[in-house]
Amino acid sequence: MKVFIVHAHHEPQSFNASMKNVAVEQFQAQGHEVQVSDLYAMQWKAVADASDFGSRANPDHLVYALEQRSAYQAKTLAPDIMAELEKLQWADLVIFNFPIYWFSMPAILKGWVDRVLISGLCYGGMRFYDRGGLRGKKAMLAVTIGGQPHMLTEGGVHGPLEDMLRPILRGTLGYAGMSVLPPFVAWHVPYIQPEQRTAIMEQYRQRLRDIDALQPMSFPSMDDFDAMLHPKPAATA
Ligand SMILES: Cc1cc2nc3c(=O)[nH]c(=O)nc-3n(C[C@H](O)[C@H](O)[C@H](O)COP(=O)(O)OP(=O)(O)OC[C@H]3O[C@@H](n4cnc5c(N)ncnc54)[C@H](O)[C@@H]3O)c2cc1C
Repeated sequence: MKVFIVHAHHEPQSFNASMKNVAVEQFQAQGHEVQVSDLYAMQWKAVADASDFGSRANPDHLVYALEQRSAYQAKTLAPDIMAELEKLQWADLVIFNFPIYWFSMPAILKGWVDRVLISGLCYGGMRFYDRGGLRGKKAMLAVTIGGQPHMLTEGGVHGPLEDMLRPILRGTLGYAGMSVLPPFVAWHVPYIQPEQRTAIMEQYRQRLRDIDALQPMSFPSMDDFDAMLHPKPAATA
């Protein structure tokens, strides 16, 4: 298997960075190929703007998604985006390794999503969910978080974890066609005892060993919607 880890933590000694290191070690020990994009170390440019295009289809008015399409065809996308696209297209499994920031991902990773998951290739023209451009690839979030499990449940103070992560799990990875595996969450890591952290890391290793057996999350099939994206009447028996 070809594994691409997109890592977004600024501190190499963090628990989050250790999770990335453990994943590299674990996958390589199992004979898998691994590539890592360490976004802070790469000084990844997070802002989607005109400088992402070497030439412009419309120099007068920037419509970012349309320029993504034409620049990809013309091979004039910025080299840093092209390099990430090559890793993405190479991968069978993409792991997004990051700390939860504001119920979401750090800005540097959001910038990776905005710039790399390009229109035309990854989605577009009614190609999303099971018709998305990245279908056939698996994705998994590996996250650290300050909060505790009981806070992110139905009835918990912040509501269910899946609701918090919906823009990423469904609105990004599922939308682009990926098979989205259940997230791995390292809960409350800054506040727990060292032996508890060691136990979480072992659970993560086990999750990685079992990854082939994981069932992806369920998202809509485009076959169930008409050309205007209204639900089709349910088939009658
Ligand atoms: C801007 C911002 C927004 C945030 N928003 C939210 C939010 O919405 N919800 C929420 O719950 N939290 C939020 N947080 C908290 C954040 O998610 C956590 O602080 C972060 O995920 C903790 O992970 P870490 O890797 O940075 O921890 P660290 O503090 O780096 O790690 C904890 C400890 O683990 C140790 N460690 C490192 N490697 C290992 C190892 N291999 N084995 C054992 N121990 C090890 C480290 O030395 C450290 O002592 C936010 C934080 C910020 C800065």
